[in-house]
Amino acid sequence: MSETIFTRIIEGQIPSHRVYEDEKVFAFLDIAPLSPGHTLVVPKEPAATLDALSEESAAAVGRVLPRIARAVMAATGTRDYNVLQNNGVAAHQAVPHVHFHVIPKPGDARGLGIDWPAGRLEAEDGKRMAAAVVAELAKG
Ligand code: AMP
Repeated sequence: MSETIFTRIIEGQIPSHRVYEDEKVFAFLDIAPLSPGHTLVVPKEPAATLDALSEESAAAVGRVLPRIARAVMAATGTRDYNVLQNNGVAAHQAVPHVHFHVIPKPGDARGLGIDWPAGRLEAEDGKRMAAAVVAELAKG
């Protein structure tokens, strides 16, 4: 786990607009917001991607996400929003330190735009895939 700019923000070496902090979580405004109030919720543990994050840090982030979302929506007067969490360069992750974007969606022109090239899950493929995932989960 190598240090990123987010570790330096958490440690106060780089300034940020902090909105929340506890023992395991830090949240601050995104410097390049997709809409006003765009916030990043970051575990202090410097895991690069979600699958590498400890259950303790994941639980700490999950516990506080709804409260931060409520606060951001109330502060911006927005009702709709997206929570986005990218893992890996191909998945649009620029900073390899786990973070959840809370992005208000005030209207069509602002917020997260989504390209959603939906396919169709065939019954046999679904059966096979579900069994593969279940088998992986059983490994612990
Ligand atoms: P991602 O593409 O999911 O890795 O998103 C990284 C986010 O970090 C981007 O939305 C950036 O605008 C944001 N970001 C990068 N550097 C800073 C910074 N110094 N302060 C606040 N946000 C930042």
